[in-house]
Amino acid sequence: MFTNSQTLFDKARQFIPGGVNSPVRAFKSVGGTPIFMQSAKGAYMYDVDGNRYIDYINSWGPMVLGHAYEPVVKAIQEYATYSTSFGAPTELEIKVAELIVSMVPNIEMVRMVNSGTEACMSALRLARGYTGRNKFIKFEGCYHGHADSFLVSAGSGVATLGIQTVPGVTASVADDTLTAPYNNLLAVEQLVADNKDQIAAIIIEPVAGNMGCILPQPGFLEGLRKICDENGIVFILDEVMTGFRLAKGGAQELLNIKADLVTFGKIIGGGMPVGAFAGKKEIMEHIAPAGKVYQAGTLSGNPIAMIAGYTMLKTLNDHPQIYTQLEEKTNQLVTGLKEALGAAGVVHRINQMSSMMSVHFTEYPITDFSSASSANNELFKRFFHAMLERGVYLPPSAFETWFVSNAITTEDIEATISAAKASMVAIQ
Ligand code: PLP
Repeated sequence: MFTNSQTLFDKARQFIPGGVNSPVRAFKSVGGTPIFMQSAKGAYMYDVDGNRYIDYINSWGPMVLGHAYEPVVKAIQEYATYSTSFGAPTELEIKVAELIVSMVPNIEMVRMVNSGTEACMSALRLARGYTGRNKFIKFEGCYHGHADSFLVSAGSGVATLGIQTVPGVTASVADDTLTAPYNNLLAVEQLVADNKDQIAAIIIEPVAGNMGCILPQPGFLEGLRKICDENGIVFILDEVMTGFRLAKGGAQELLNIKADLVTFGKIIGGGMPVGAFAGKKEIMEHIAPAGKVYQAGTLSGNPIAMIAGYTMLKTLNDHPQIYTQLEEKTNQLVTGLKEALGAAGVVHRINQMSSMMSVHFTEYPITDFSSASSANNELFKRFFHAMLERGVYLPPSAFETWFVSNAITTEDIEATISAAKASMVAIQ
């Protein structure tokens, strides 16, 4: 069933470390062979063995309208004939920045980069340059990309692989990274008191998506905002996952929370490698060449990436009903899965916000990294493979979020729920 994938994986491991170009693709925690994809359209991906999957990863978030969304594909084809890169400014970059500023609350300026990692790394540098302070607070199980400072108590692949201390990250860098449990305001207050006037930033995923999907408890984000205001700390919302997904203005709009700096990735590039960080002029103008905090990129604002992102964002901006549809579809999936798992007598928790969700096999609420880590990962592993065999492609780790795309139909959701019922019969 996966013969060609197996052959390709064997070959890939000869030339690519671990056979993949990003660890989370490697099926390390669930075991087995990563599936090599051939093509994708709408809600489906097709592998090199001719299998079709209903996709709940959607390239780890970007494909919110489904794969090979026609207007994006057409725009890329057209722009590729102008040039694949100028290395000089274009009018398109202004259009993208203007559109983003009009969609997202509390921002006046945007700097484009090439990935979510770059966006978070640069936002942190800016916060440090702006405040003249070195330390920052992040939350256990949150992932802000693979820049050195963030690889402390990190989620996503770092959590999946169970890496405690990342070799190559120096102690002096790690010492400036302070960590607190998600949803624990008291721990943050203590860190701020212990490091008075030394903390440049608090960075957080407003809805965490890198330890499964974890929701901020009422008052948590507001409490962080207050702590930042009272202590001159820059509040960075990492909206790489949540931006343009939870609402067109991201978590800031949906949860009515105000950031000083926001980082973006994933959807912002329409499937091309793009990231961005944004904020008010007062802070953003400290970035070079307006200011002295240096940040640059040969391919930043790349025309193909910009037109893909612009087309995607314009679609979301002009059709806000997409967000209602995404939520309704995800609600339908969550309700059906709860029924299916409940009927099979499986203890579980499903966390959901809008079109982000995750399933944990445990009776306890999943509110932070420690509760996510205590769920039954052995059962998740068997569930993952049983679903894969039934044509449903889930994230290959319980520390990841499921992303629902708007290309999915009621029939696809029903098929997913039936697959879950059959999977439970097969694995229990
Ligand atoms: N921030 C968050 C919340 C993410 O989920 C990710 C990636 O999954 C990143 C930052 C890093 O983005 P990238 O993989 O584009 O570097």
